[in-house]
Amino acid sequence: MCLEPTLLAKAVWEVDLEELAARGVRGVILDLDNTIAYWNDREVLPRAREWIARARERGLSVCLVSNALRGSRVKAVAEELGIAYVRRAGKPFGAGYRRAMKEMNTSPAETCIIGDQVFTDIWGGNRLGVTTILVEPLAPRESPHTRLVRLIERPLRRRWARRIE
Ligand SMILES: [Mg+2]
Repeated sequence: MCLEPTLLAKAVWEVDLEELAARGVRGVILDLDNTIAYWNDREVLPRAREWIARARERGLSVCLVSNALRGSRVKAVAEELGIAYVRRAGKPFGAGYRRAMKEMNTSPAETCIIGDQVFTDIWGGNRLGVTTILVEPLAPRESPHTRLVRLIERPLRRRWARRIE
């Protein structure tokens, strides 16, 4: 079970686009809740929005992939950003990610996944051999289920942070 992300970042807007290019990344899969917008919110943070615009200017494809219960919100956010999306993705299972890669026409080696949850975003990506980047959740507010999962996630994050320092 490989849970460790390829890279750690404070937030999506801290992810270095130069580095992604150097790794041969052509497509970025983005998580929604607590990665580019607050949990259960449809307002993308301006800094995340700006990063997405910069990524696309550099020729990267971007696809939103979310497990959110309300698929209409995922669709609305993606359409507003003008990017592709996969809703009810069923992360960590691979079907949603594979659909996203098909949409972007990228192989796993050319794809990177950015998300705030180890047991969905990162685990699912690692299983497919995709570059994975774990970010810190934007805010503490989230579902009771996720809050529970964070109890297991937290010590892992601490260990990886020490390793990278
Ligand atoms: Mg999330």
